[in-house]
Amino acid sequence: MSETRVAVVTGASRGIGRAIALRLAKDGRHVVLVSRSAAPLAEVKSAIEDGGGEASVCAVDVGERAAWGAAIEGIAKERGRLDILVNNAGITRDNLSLRMSDEEWDEVIAVNLTSAFVAIRAAARSMMKQRFGRIVNIASTSGLVGNAGQANYAAAKSGLLGLSKTIARELGGKGITCNVVAPGFIQTDMTANLGEEITDKVKDAMAIKRLGEAGDIAAAVAYVTSDEAGFLTGQVIAVDGGMTMC
Ligand code: NAP
Repeated sequence: MSETRVAVVTGASRGIGRAIALRLAKDGRHVVLVSRSAAPLAEVKSAIEDGGGEASVCAVDVGERAAWGAAIEGIAKERGRLDILVNNAGITRDNLSLRMSDEEWDEVIAVNLTSAFVAIRAAARSMMKQRFGRIVNIASTSGLVGNAGQANYAAAKSGLLGLSKTIARELGGKGITCNVVAPGFIQTDMTANLGEEITDKVKDAMAIKRLGEAGDIAAAVAYVTSDEAGFLTGQVIAVDGGMTMC
Protein backbone atom coordinates (compact mmCIF):
# COMPACT_ATOMS: atom_id res chain seq x y z
CA MET A 1 0.00 0.00 0.00
CA SER A 2 1.31 3.46 -0.91
CA GLU A 3 2.31 5.62 2.06
CA THR A 4 0.93 8.77 0.42
CA ARG A 5 -2.27 9.93 2.06
CA VAL A 6 -5.26 10.02 -0.29
CA ALA A 7 -7.58 13.04 -0.07
CA VAL A 8 -10.95 13.36 -1.80
CA VAL A 9 -12.03 16.96 -2.42
CA THR A 10 -15.49 17.64 -3.84
CA GLY A 11 -16.24 20.76 -5.84
CA ALA A 12 -12.57 20.83 -6.84
CA SER A 13 -13.10 22.30 -10.32
CA ARG A 14 -13.02 25.93 -9.16
CA GLY A 15 -13.21 28.34 -6.24
CA ILE A 16 -12.60 27.11 -2.71
CA GLY A 17 -12.42 23.42 -3.67
CA ARG A 18 -9.74 24.10 -6.29
CA ALA A 19 -7.66 26.00 -3.73
CA ILE A 20 -8.07 23.20 -1.17
CA ALA A 21 -7.01 20.61 -3.75
CA LEU A 22 -3.89 22.59 -4.75
CA ARG A 23 -2.95 23.11 -1.11
CA LEU A 24 -3.40 19.47 -0.06
CA ALA A 25 -1.38 18.34 -3.10
CA LYS A 26 1.36 20.83 -2.19
CA ASP A 27 1.35 19.25 1.29
CA GLY A 28 2.08 15.85 -0.28
CA ARG A 29 -1.37 14.25 -0.54
CA HIS A 30 -2.66 12.40 -3.60
CA VAL A 31 -5.79 14.41 -4.31
CA VAL A 32 -8.87 12.91 -5.97
CA LEU A 33 -10.65 15.81 -7.65
CA VAL A 34 -14.46 15.57 -7.75
CA SER A 35 -17.09 17.63 -9.56
CA ARG A 36 -19.65 17.03 -12.30
CA SER A 37 -17.50 17.52 -15.39
CA ALA A 38 -14.12 16.04 -16.19
CA ALA A 39 -12.73 18.92 -18.33
CA PRO A 40 -12.26 21.57 -15.59
CA LEU A 41 -10.93 18.88 -13.26
CA ALA A 42 -8.30 17.94 -15.86
CA GLU A 43 -7.07 21.56 -15.75
CA VAL A 44 -6.75 21.39 -11.94
CA LYS A 45 -4.95 18.04 -12.23
CA SER A 46 -2.44 19.61 -14.66
CA ALA A 47 -1.89 22.56 -12.32
CA ILE A 48 -1.18 20.13 -9.45
CA GLU A 49 1.18 18.03 -11.55
CA ASP A 50 2.98 21.15 -12.82
CA GLY A 51 3.70 21.93 -9.16
CA GLY A 52 5.12 18.42 -8.62
CA GLY A 53 2.00 17.00 -6.95
CA GLU A 54 -0.25 14.01 -7.60
CA ALA A 55 -3.94 14.00 -8.49
CA SER A 56 -6.65 12.03 -10.22
CA VAL A 57 -10.08 12.94 -11.54
CA CYS A 58 -13.52 11.59 -10.61
CA ALA A 59 -16.44 13.23 -12.46
CA VAL A 60 -19.68 12.51 -10.60
CA ASP A 61 -22.77 14.37 -9.43
CA VAL A 62 -22.60 14.22 -5.63
CA GLY A 63 -26.35 14.83 -5.52
CA GLU A 64 -26.91 11.39 -7.11
CA ARG A 65 -26.78 9.25 -3.98
CA ALA A 66 -26.10 5.79 -5.43
CA ALA A 67 -23.53 6.99 -7.99
CA TRP A 68 -21.71 9.12 -5.42
CA GLY A 69 -21.56 6.37 -2.76
CA ALA A 70 -20.26 3.92 -5.39
CA ALA A 71 -17.67 6.47 -6.56
CA ILE A 72 -16.25 6.83 -3.04
CA GLU A 73 -16.05 3.05 -2.65
CA GLY A 74 -14.35 2.86 -6.07
CA ILE A 75 -11.75 5.49 -5.09
CA ALA A 76 -10.90 3.65 -1.85
CA LYS A 77 -10.58 0.34 -3.73
CA GLU A 78 -8.53 1.72 -6.61
CA ARG A 79 -6.11 3.74 -4.44
CA GLY A 80 -5.98 1.17 -1.64
CA ARG A 81 -6.77 3.79 1.02
CA LEU A 82 -8.79 6.90 1.78
CA ASP A 83 -7.43 9.21 4.46
CA ILE A 84 -9.00 12.63 3.99
CA LEU A 85 -12.50 13.60 2.87
CA VAL A 86 -13.38 17.24 2.20
CA ASN A 87 -17.08 17.71 1.45
CA ASN A 88 -16.92 21.10 -0.23
CA ALA A 89 -19.26 20.92 -3.26
CA GLY A 90 -22.14 23.31 -2.79
CA ILE A 91 -24.82 25.25 -4.62
CA THR A 92 -27.25 28.06 -3.88
CA ARG A 93 -30.87 28.33 -5.06
CA ASP A 94 -31.85 31.47 -3.15
CA ASN A 95 -35.43 32.59 -2.65
CA LEU A 96 -37.53 33.96 0.17
CA SER A 97 -38.98 31.04 2.17
CA LEU A 98 -42.57 31.72 1.21
CA ARG A 99 -41.65 31.62 -2.48
CA MET A 100 -39.20 28.73 -2.32
CA SER A 101 -40.17 25.75 -4.48
CA ASP A 102 -39.87 22.11 -3.45
CA GLU A 103 -37.21 21.71 -6.16
CA GLU A 104 -35.11 24.60 -4.78
CA TRP A 105 -35.30 23.08 -1.31
CA ASP A 106 -34.62 19.48 -2.37
CA GLU A 107 -31.71 20.24 -4.70
CA VAL A 108 -29.80 22.27 -2.12
CA ILE A 109 -30.36 19.71 0.64
CA ALA A 110 -29.25 16.88 -1.69
CA VAL A 111 -26.04 18.55 -2.90
CA ASN A 112 -25.04 20.46 0.25
CA LEU A 113 -26.06 18.04 3.02
CA THR A 114 -27.09 14.54 1.93
CA SER A 115 -23.98 14.18 -0.26
CA ALA A 116 -21.76 14.69 2.79
CA PHE A 117 -23.56 11.96 4.74
CA VAL A 118 -23.37 9.56 1.77
CA ALA A 119 -19.62 10.21 1.34
CA ILE A 120 -18.85 9.87 5.05
CA ARG A 121 -20.78 6.58 5.29
CA ALA A 122 -18.89 5.15 2.31
CA ALA A 123 -15.44 6.51 3.30
CA ALA A 124 -15.67 5.52 6.97
CA ARG A 125 -15.16 1.83 6.17
CA SER A 126 -11.63 2.45 4.83
CA MET A 127 -10.84 5.00 7.52
CA MET A 128 -11.89 2.58 10.27
CA LYS A 129 -9.69 -0.18 8.84
CA GLN A 130 -6.76 2.27 8.71
CA ARG A 131 -7.64 3.66 12.15
CA PHE A 132 -7.04 7.08 10.63
CA GLY A 133 -9.32 9.58 8.97
CA ARG A 134 -9.80 13.31 8.60
CA ILE A 135 -13.24 14.53 7.53
CA VAL A 136 -14.01 18.21 6.91
CA ASN A 137 -17.39 19.53 5.92
CA ILE A 138 -17.45 23.00 4.39
CA ALA A 139 -20.44 24.84 5.85
CA SER A 140 -21.05 28.60 5.85
CA THR A 141 -21.69 31.46 8.21
CA SER A 142 -25.26 31.31 6.81
CA GLY A 143 -25.57 28.00 8.67
CA LEU A 144 -24.37 29.63 11.90
CA VAL A 145 -26.49 32.77 11.97
CA GLY A 146 -29.05 32.34 9.13
CA ASN A 147 -29.45 34.51 6.05
CA ALA A 148 -32.65 35.91 4.53
CA GLY A 149 -33.36 34.23 1.19
CA GLN A 150 -31.35 31.14 2.04
CA ALA A 151 -33.63 28.87 4.12
CA ASN A 152 -32.56 25.83 2.06
CA TYR A 153 -28.85 26.71 2.09
CA ALA A 154 -28.72 27.72 5.78
CA ALA A 155 -30.63 24.56 6.80
CA ALA A 156 -28.25 22.37 4.81
CA LYS A 157 -25.15 24.11 6.19
CA SER A 158 -26.50 24.04 9.73
CA GLY A 159 -27.29 20.36 9.20
CA LEU A 160 -23.60 19.77 8.49
CA LEU A 161 -22.82 20.94 12.04
CA GLY A 162 -25.04 18.29 13.65
CA LEU A 163 -23.79 15.64 11.22
CA SER A 164 -20.14 16.49 11.91
CA LYS A 165 -20.47 16.51 15.69
CA THR A 166 -22.29 13.17 15.62
CA ILE A 167 -19.68 11.59 13.32
CA ALA A 168 -16.95 12.99 15.59
CA ARG A 169 -18.54 11.19 18.53
CA GLU A 170 -19.25 7.95 16.65
CA LEU A 171 -15.83 7.56 15.02
CA GLY A 172 -13.41 9.39 17.34
CA GLY A 173 -12.33 6.15 18.99
CA LYS A 174 -11.17 4.85 15.60
CA GLY A 175 -8.71 7.67 14.97
CA ILE A 176 -11.14 9.57 12.76
CA THR A 177 -11.81 13.27 13.26
CA CYS A 178 -14.69 15.24 11.77
CA ASN A 179 -14.82 19.03 11.78
CA VAL A 180 -16.56 21.91 10.06
CA VAL A 181 -14.91 24.86 8.35
CA ALA A 182 -17.45 27.65 7.90
CA PRO A 183 -16.34 30.30 5.39
CA GLY A 184 -17.62 33.85 5.48
CA PHE A 185 -17.66 35.82 2.21
CA ILE A 186 -14.97 34.43 -0.07
CA GLN A 187 -14.26 35.74 -3.57
CA THR A 188 -15.38 32.95 -5.92
CA ASP A 189 -17.97 32.45 -8.70
CA MET A 190 -20.58 31.93 -5.95
CA THR A 191 -20.17 35.51 -4.70
CA ALA A 192 -19.16 37.15 -7.99
CA ASN A 193 -22.52 38.85 -8.64
CA LEU A 194 -23.26 40.38 -5.23
CA GLY A 195 -22.67 43.96 -6.39
CA GLU A 196 -20.63 46.75 -4.84
CA GLU A 197 -23.25 47.86 -2.29
CA ILE A 198 -23.62 44.41 -0.67
CA THR A 199 -19.87 43.76 -0.86
CA ASP A 200 -19.19 47.05 0.97
CA LYS A 201 -21.77 46.19 3.68
CA VAL A 202 -20.20 42.76 4.13
CA LYS A 203 -16.71 44.21 4.46
CA ASP A 204 -18.03 46.67 7.01
CA ALA A 205 -19.42 43.82 9.14
CA MET A 206 -16.03 42.15 9.35
CA ALA A 207 -13.22 42.77 11.82
CA ILE A 208 -10.77 42.21 8.97
CA LYS A 209 -11.95 44.63 6.31
CA ARG A 210 -11.61 42.53 3.18
CA LEU A 211 -13.39 39.64 1.50
CA GLY A 212 -11.78 36.27 2.04
CA GLU A 213 -9.77 34.39 -0.55
CA ALA A 214 -10.06 30.71 -1.37
CA GLY A 215 -6.55 30.23 0.03
CA ASP A 216 -7.75 31.42 3.46
CA ILE A 217 -10.10 28.41 3.59
CA ALA A 218 -7.53 26.03 2.12
CA ALA A 219 -5.06 26.94 4.88
CA ALA A 220 -7.61 26.03 7.58
CA VAL A 221 -8.48 22.76 5.83
CA ALA A 222 -4.79 21.90 5.49
CA TYR A 223 -4.33 22.12 9.26
CA VAL A 224 -7.57 20.32 10.19
CA THR A 225 -6.70 17.41 7.86
CA SER A 226 -3.06 17.16 8.94
CA ASP A 227 -1.73 14.23 10.96
CA GLU A 228 -0.96 16.61 13.83
CA ALA A 229 -4.61 17.70 14.20
CA GLY A 230 -5.62 14.37 15.78
CA PHE A 231 -6.99 15.97 18.97
CA LEU A 232 -9.25 18.43 17.12
CA THR A 233 -12.71 17.05 16.45
CA GLY A 234 -16.37 18.07 16.44
CA GLN A 235 -15.37 21.73 16.03
CA VAL A 236 -16.78 24.49 13.89
CA ILE A 237 -14.05 26.81 12.66
CA ALA A 238 -15.47 30.00 11.16
CA VAL A 239 -12.98 31.48 8.70
CA ASP A 240 -14.89 34.69 8.14
CA GLY A 241 -12.64 37.66 8.88
CA GLY A 242 -14.29 37.99 12.30
CA MET A 243 -17.79 38.51 10.89
CA THR A 244 -19.74 36.23 13.25
CA MET A 245 -17.46 35.48 16.23
CA CYS A 246 -20.04 33.01 17.56
P1 NAP B 1 -18.29 27.63 -6.58
O1 NAP B 1 -17.18 28.49 -7.06
O2 NAP B 1 -19.67 27.86 -7.08
O3 NAP B 1 -17.87 26.09 -6.84
C1 NAP B 1 -18.75 25.05 -6.49
C2 NAP B 1 -18.06 23.73 -6.76
O4 NAP B 1 -18.98 22.67 -6.44
C3 NAP B 1 -17.68 23.56 -8.22
O5 NAP B 1 -16.48 22.84 -8.31
C4 NAP B 1 -18.84 22.73 -8.77
O6 NAP B 1 -18.40 21.99 -9.89
C5 NAP B 1 -19.13 21.81 -7.58
N1 NAP B 1 -20.46 21.23 -7.62
C6 NAP B 1 -21.65 21.90 -7.58
N2 NAP B 1 -22.66 21.02 -7.64
C7 NAP B 1 -22.10 19.79 -7.71
C8 NAP B 1 -22.64 18.48 -7.80
N3 NAP B 1 -23.96 18.26 -7.82
N4 NAP B 1 -21.79 17.43 -7.87
C9 NAP B 1 -20.43 17.64 -7.85
N5 NAP B 1 -19.88 18.85 -7.76
C10 NAP B 1 -20.70 19.92 -7.69
O7 NAP B 1 -18.41 27.66 -4.99
P2 NAP B 1 -17.36 28.14 -3.86
O8 NAP B 1 -17.61 29.55 -3.59
O9 NAP B 1 -15.99 27.67 -4.19
O10 NAP B 1 -17.94 27.33 -2.61
C11 NAP B 1 -17.39 26.10 -2.19
C12 NAP B 1 -18.07 25.69 -0.89
O11 NAP B 1 -17.90 26.73 0.08
C13 NAP B 1 -19.58 25.50 -1.04
O12 NAP B 1 -20.00 24.43 -0.22
C14 NAP B 1 -20.15 26.81 -0.51
O13 NAP B 1 -21.45 26.66 -0.02
C15 NAP B 1 -19.16 27.13 0.58
N6 NAP B 1 -19.12 28.56 0.92
C16 NAP B 1 -18.71 29.49 0.02
C17 NAP B 1 -18.70 30.83 0.40
C18 NAP B 1 -18.24 31.92 -0.52
O14 NAP B 1 -18.29 33.08 -0.11
N7 NAP B 1 -17.78 31.63 -1.72
C19 NAP B 1 -19.13 31.20 1.68
C20 NAP B 1 -19.55 30.23 2.55
C21 NAP B 1 -19.53 28.90 2.18
P3 NAP B 1 -19.28 21.69 -11.19
O15 NAP B 1 -20.27 22.82 -11.34
O16 NAP B 1 -18.26 21.62 -12.28
O17 NAP B 1 -19.92 20.37 -10.91
